[in-house]
Amino acid sequence: MTGATRGIGHAIAIRFAREGANVAFCGRSRSEAMVAVEAELLALGVKAKGYACDVADYTQAQAFVKEVLADFGQVDILVNNAGITDDAAVKRMTEAQMDRVMHTNLGSVFCMTKAIQPAMWRQGHGSIVNIGSVVGIAGNYNQANYAASKAGIIGFSKSCAKEFAARNIRVNVVCPGFIETEMTAEVPKELMDTWCSRIPMKRPGTADEVAQACVFLASDMCPYITSVVLPICGGMEDA
Ligand code: NDP
Repeated sequence: MTGATRGIGHAIAIRFAREGANVAFCGRSRSEAMVAVEAELLALGVKAKGYACDVADYTQAQAFVKEVLADFGQVDILVNNAGITDDAAVKRMTEAQMDRVMHTNLGSVFCMTKAIQPAMWRQGHGSIVNIGSVVGIAGNYNQANYAASKAGIIGFSKSCAKEFAARNIRVNVVCPGFIETEMTAEVPKELMDTWCSRIPMKRPGTADEVAQACVFLASDMCPYITSVVLPICGGMEDA
């Protein structure tokens, strides 16, 4: 999986390990966080390894998957979680901001899918879960670049689902809404309350709730589900 050194990706890696899956994951560098996550996963009794890889770089993604296949033998599940934001109103957004977010969020999904697809094709099964966002469905102020990248992930995933279905490779998208992370811990309580009042379930989601949906879609519990876009958003109207 991509981007498991913190946040939602970290929760996904832990949840998969708790379910008994071996976990190969990456971040952009072999950081202290990566080493700590690796140790946390190993302590859960599974095989685990962190790799330094910028997944938006085609050559690095190819090398990452090659190494994982050499170390782990096979890859049954790919979770494309790595993503960034670089917010601005369109009036002020630079071309560089647009390119960087599109390239990292959508480009990385292309790079990783290209890299893993031959192995999944050969083995005749696989499950790819891509992390989108409700913003990719509904749009958002100051996030046109991010929304476009996440909407692109939906179109890309649905196309892959069609192309890969005959080979028993499923491709689905999980779209988190407002999720509590280290970042939201710093948001003032009044602002949090305002945001939550707009959510029918009146609370943010947790990273583990996103992770549980990923495990379900990746697992044998849903062998006939592909091309699905699953919002995890507490019932927000416009998702
Ligand atoms: P964080 O910023 O907390 O974590 C991002 C992760 O991605 C880190 O592990 C980071 O690793 C990795 N990463 C970023 N860029 C790259 C890259 N080019 N190559 C490899 N790894 C990379 O993000 P969140 O946990 O908040 O979000 C995770 C995903 O969920 C994203 O796709 C995001 O768009 C999506 N999402 C999040 C929501 C939220 O409320 N948080 C809501 C909706 C969707 P490192 O820094 O070590 O390189």
